Amino acid sequence: MYLEENFKDNIVHWFNNNQRSMPWRETTNPYYIWLSEVMLQQTQVKTVIDYYDRFTHRFPTIADLSEANEDEVLKYWEGLGYYSRARNFHHAVKEVQRDYNGIVPSDPENFKSLKGVGPYTQAAVMSIAFDHPLPTVDGNVFRVWSRLNNDSSDIKLQSTRKTFEQQLLPYVQEEAGTFNQSMMELGALICTPKNPLCMFCPVQENCEAFDKGTVLDLPVKTKNLKKKTIEQSVFLIRNNKGQYLLEKRQERLLNGMWEFPMFEASNAISEISHKLKHDIEPLPEHIFKLKHQFTHLTWNIKVYSVPETIDINEKVLPDNMVWFDLSNRDDYSFPVSMDKIYRFIEG
Ligand code: SF4
Repeated sequence: MYLEENFKDNIVHWFNNNQRSMPWRETTNPYYIWLSEVMLQQTQVKTVIDYYDRFTHRFPTIADLSEANEDEVLKYWEGLGYYSRARNFHHAVKEVQRDYNGIVPSDPENFKSLKGVGPYTQAAVMSIAFDHPLPTVDGNVFRVWSRLNNDSSDIKLQSTRKTFEQQLLPYVQEEAGTFNQSMMELGALICTPKNPLCMFCPVQENCEAFDKGTVLDLPVKTKNLKKKTIEQSVFLIRNNKGQYLLEKRQERLLNGMWEFPMFEASNAISEISHKLKHDIEPLPEHIFKLKHQFTHLTWNIKVYSVPETIDINEKVLPDNMVWFDLSNRDDYSFPVSMDKIYRFIEG
């Protein structure tokens, strides 16, 4: 499938004149381009800009980031969500420092072998930073390409991704980074999911879906399975100095982040009592509730106050628990749900 000769010229010309200004577009530093691509996964540009600025200010080089401890890295990621991205990126940057003298490998296979680098990140960073002929296929490109070709293949299928990558290969033999960004920018600004601006589209003359009137039927994507919902109980447990108990999550979702102790509701009281080796008796009614959505799952969280205060001198805490003074908020990275609970307590 090869669109008319002028397709690439049209889209690249439009991009060169209409692209949004973003800090990572002002640099050729592959570390910064890589960071931006990681932050942009599942997150909007306008949210990422501040995080990107703060992160690059604090960790301006690969060496700086590789020396940082994970808690601090997570702190700079706090609120962006999908924290495994941060942990994998940190891990991969350490690999670059150790195995490649702190220089991001320009060989696509070497780059792909780093932790957390999947086919999309590989193609994006390698094409934008080094002009390697690799097409990026993200949600925007799936939509644009399906429409341009009036292609109703299911974009949830791996085989569709493979086919699209093959079809896009001829366009990335030169100016790969610019072409890839043109496609993604067109999807973000013009060829949007619900109200595409076909009248202002630079590639309307190349678009089969526009021709056939099928734009809003594309792309085709089979429905997600229903999200799982988990009922969670959070306990606000204080010591006799007014400090709150926090637990660091380990080897599970949101690994490395801090939380007020939280357990699945069905056996929450026995779990926390077992962990503390102390019978915990929360008030029967929750004092606050919230819902937290992940891509694949929803947490319904109820927060319970525990009236008894624990004597700090008598209780030895497990390794992953600490007493937390509310004024030391900046020392801990909280996922969004825990930050909401913190704000509730702080009033
Ligand atoms: Fe998308 Fe419309 Fe442009 Fe086709 S003409 S690429 S559907 S914006």
